[in-house]
Amino acid sequence: MQGQQITGLHKPETVAEALAALSDLGGGGTVMAGATWIMRAPFRREPMKPAYVSLAQIPELHRIAFTQAHVRIGSAVTHAQLVRELQAIPELGGLVSAAGDSANPAVRQAATVGGNLCTADFAAADLVPALLCQDAEVEILTMEGRQFLSLDAFLGLRERLERAYLLVSVLVPRRPLASAHARLPLRKAGDYPVAIVSVAVERRPDGHMRGAAIAVGSVEAVARRWRGLERAVAGLPLDASRIHQLALDLADEFVGRDGPEVPGWYRVKVLPTLVRRAFATLQQH
Ligand SMILES: Cc1cc2nc3c(=O)[nH]c(=O)nc-3n(C[C@H](O)[C@H](O)[C@H](O)COP(=O)(O)OP(=O)(O)OC[C@H]3O[C@@H](n4cnc5c(N)ncnc54)[C@H](O)[C@@H]3O)c2cc1C
Repeated sequence: MQGQQITGLHKPETVAEALAALSDLGGGGTVMAGATWIMRAPFRREPMKPAYVSLAQIPELHRIAFTQAHVRIGSAVTHAQLVRELQAIPELGGLVSAAGDSANPAVRQAATVGGNLCTADFAAADLVPALLCQDAEVEILTMEGRQFLSLDAFLGLRERLERAYLLVSVLVPRRPLASAHARLPLRKAGDYPVAIVSVAVERRPDGHMRGAAIAVGSVEAVARRWRGLERAVAGLPLDASRIHQLALDLADEFVGRDGPEVPGWYRVKVLPTLVRRAFATLQQH
């Protein structure tokens, strides 16, 4: 951080105070959640902001609440907390696995759901595909008011949102699903994954799939649903080998992003294997 100075760390105790601080700072400040992305700015050759608005002391952002319709996850809930508090909820197995396998134990104690979803340049974020295939919504607060957006829509416009915005919570609908998460880290635990596949499946009484949501992360710049494969597998038996074959046929729907760790074609090449792994996990249950 040589030559870069943070002049202000604001520690509001309510969401309204946080928003007011962000608004006052204008372009001179931004949100700080777990800081696991922010602290690596110098490695990415990005400048630090002069000021940050910490979410650490806003209790409502650190809570997970359950209603009949939703699981509401406060934006400052950490990956470790997700694992602790959601591991008994069968339909969220994929999200728990995404949170529990990402990064390393120390980072998981700090990194938050909000940071994962709001970091526009982080293609390899694990929670994004896991929440995309749950049809999650996000609650966004700006000086103009509160709005709820599908996660998909939020990902499309997060870079264009005005600076003074706060992701307050993530709403995950409660449905009778089974879900799983498969990722390919390149070398060792803690590396960003080369490719990610998250799936959520609703089964019919005969065991066939009523529908499957399949989301792909880290392959392209922004995670997205694999609609072609979703259409192809709807109504089929939950058979990982058969779905793997379909994934091989349809993988050219993706254009992989080149990166320092691997070329783009490699990310696409490993996708069908991850699809097979994710569905095989569901087959075992
Ligand atoms: C070595 C290492 C390896 C990692 N590997 C992985 C991995 O494999 N998979 C994975 O998913 N994660 C991984 N992470 C963690 C990753 O950095 C976080 O998941 C996430 O991207 C940042 O979360 P954070 O809470 O630390 O956010 P911060 O660093 O505090 O903030 C990141 C950005 O989001 C904005 N922001 C944060 N919260 C909000 C909010 N509520 N509203 C509006 N804007 C907000 C900030 O202003 C900032 O621009 C890794 C981290 C490290 C250090």
